[in-house]
Formats: sequence, C-alpha cells, structure tokens
Amino acid sequence: MAKLLEGKVIAEGLKARIKSEVESLKAKHGKAPKLLALQLGENASSAVYVKAQKKVAESLGIDYELKVLPDTTSQAEAETLINNLNKDAGITAIILQLPVPKGIDAKKLASLIAPQKDAEGMHPQNLGKILLGNYKIGPCTAMAVMELLESTGEKLYGKEAVVVGHSEIVGKPLALMLLNKFATTTVCHIGTGERGVLPDHVKKAEILIVAVGKAGLVKGDWIKDGAIVVDVGINRVGDKILGDVEFEGASQKASFITPVPGGVGPITTTMLMRNTVELFKDQL
Ligand code: NAD
Repeated sequence: MAKLLEGKVIAEGLKARIKSEVESLKAKHGKAPKLLALQLGENASSAVYVKAQKKVAESLGIDYELKVLPDTTSQAEAETLINNLNKDAGITAIILQLPVPKGIDAKKLASLIAPQKDAEGMHPQNLGKILLGNYKIGPCTAMAVMELLESTGEKLYGKEAVVVGHSEIVGKPLALMLLNKFATTTVCHIGTGERGVLPDHVKKAEILIVAVGKAGLVKGDWIKDGAIVVDVGINRVGDKILGDVEFEGASQKASFITPVPGGVGPITTTMLMRNTVELFKDQL
C-alpha cells in the first residue's frame, strides 16, 4: 500500500523555511517582499484564490495587496497599469488573477509583467532559465510537483519519468525540471492518448506525473509496482473532487501517491510565495 504524499504537511515545512528567510531579510534590509495581485472584474473563483494567497502571504511576513479593477477596464488601461507596476520599486512581484473579463487578452497582459516581477514564473525569460538548468523561480504547479518528489527522498537520476500532459503551466516545464535532474523523461499528451499507447508509456513509469484534467484517465492496473505517482488533475465529479488517476487501484501498486484533493494543490500557493521571495532577493 502506497504512502500518501500529503501536500499540506510538505507545505508546512516549506512555509516554515520561507518565513524564517523573510524574517532575516526584513531584519537585514528593513523591508519585506510585497506581492501584488491584479484582478480584473469580480468573480467567484478569483475571490477564493486571492483569499488563500493573502492568508498564506501574511502568515509568512510577505506584504500582500489586491488591486481590483472594474470589469469595464480596457486592455490598454490594464497594460498601462502593469507597465506602471513594473516601475514601482515598492512592489516585488505581480500575479494576474484568472479568469479575466471577455475582451481582455490575459496572455498578452501576463507577458507584460517584467521577468524580475514574475510571481508565477511564466515569463519566457524565466521559462528559458529552466531550459538552461539555471533557475530559482518557476511555474508554481510544476515547482510543487518537484517538491513532492523531493519529499520522498528518492533519487531521480536515471529513473524512468513519465509526464502525462504537456501544458505550458505544468507538463512542459516539469519535463525540463525532470531532465535537469537526469531522469529519463517521456512526455505524453493527447496525441499519445488518441493513438492508444498511453498505457504502454505509463506502465514503464517509475515516476508518474499526470496533469490532464480527465477523471480516472490513468487506470490503477497501469501503475508499475513501486512507482511514485503524483496526480495533478482536479476534476469535479458530482459532489466529489477526483484526480486523473484511479486512486484505489493505483495506491495498491505505487510506493508513494498524492491524494486528490490534498496533494499538489496545497503546495502551489506556497511556491508563489517562494517565487516572490526569490525575486525580492534578486532585486535587493
Ligand atoms: P491543459 O488542459 O492545459 O492540458 C491538458 C493536457 O492533457 C494536454 O497536454 C493534453 O494534450 C493532455 N491530454 C488531454 N487528453 C489526453 C489523453 N486522453 N491522454 C493523454 N493526454 C491527454 O491542462 P493543465 O492546465 O495542465 O491542467 C491539467 C489538470 O491539472 C487539470 O485538471 C487542472 O485542473 C489541474 N491543475 C491542478 C493544479 C493544482 O494546483 N493542483 C494546478 C494547475 C492545474
């Protein structure tokens, strides 16, 4: 039976380290990092995220400001605001909350956030550093998965790693991070699934990360004995939240497995804070 990789417990350890680092930075430089969240219009899912971000930031000694613009804000106005925030020395890092109102190009807005203030680690310059194997910040979910893997104490060197999903925020950066650790990395995606060969790849995985968004896509009996399984998927099915991996079957075979919810999710906000602190140190 697999050991559970409990995100909450791992996040607590990470938070304790970030908190003490922020305290010593404050003592030395007389100021704290500040994360600014930019929200366009009101919506329920952003409200949940910003509430959680504020709580975590403040518990770590990081200043947090939420700037809400009316949903009538134009693209040009939002772009001007981001350009001004980039120049504001009092702001360490900026996150654009999604979704944005219709007619607003979120990708374009996010691309205007200066790489030095890129709280989510999604600027091409910061993604490029991951490719070069020289990075301190990165996309929060991919960074959270790497923390979960690290918490197992297992070496990644030479291991067969399979990443299912190749999105810009999870699968692709994660594949690069695994390569940087010398895991033998395979990336599967919709093309793999439609060709019918997903099970063949998954069955080889000693490290399996699934980030697709389809409940139960990966069957329990595909899991290799002793595999480490990280399920990033979040799928609402009726009144339940399920992952992309069939948990019951997979946990019979894996050595470690993340629960859903409670695996990757609790660590991602902590990674946002760690990115903010790393940007702050660079700016000092
Ligand atoms: P996405 O929609 O951008 O990408 C989905 C990926 O799955 C694509 O690479 C696609 O090619 C692949 N795919 C689709 N069908 C497939 C199939 N049948 N076989 C193999 N691959 C297939 O998704 P995303 O933004 O990367 O998110 C993936 C999941 O992770 C979602 O459930 C999302 O809610 C969740 N997520 C969780 C967190 C967290 O903090 N826990 C953060 C981000 C995303």
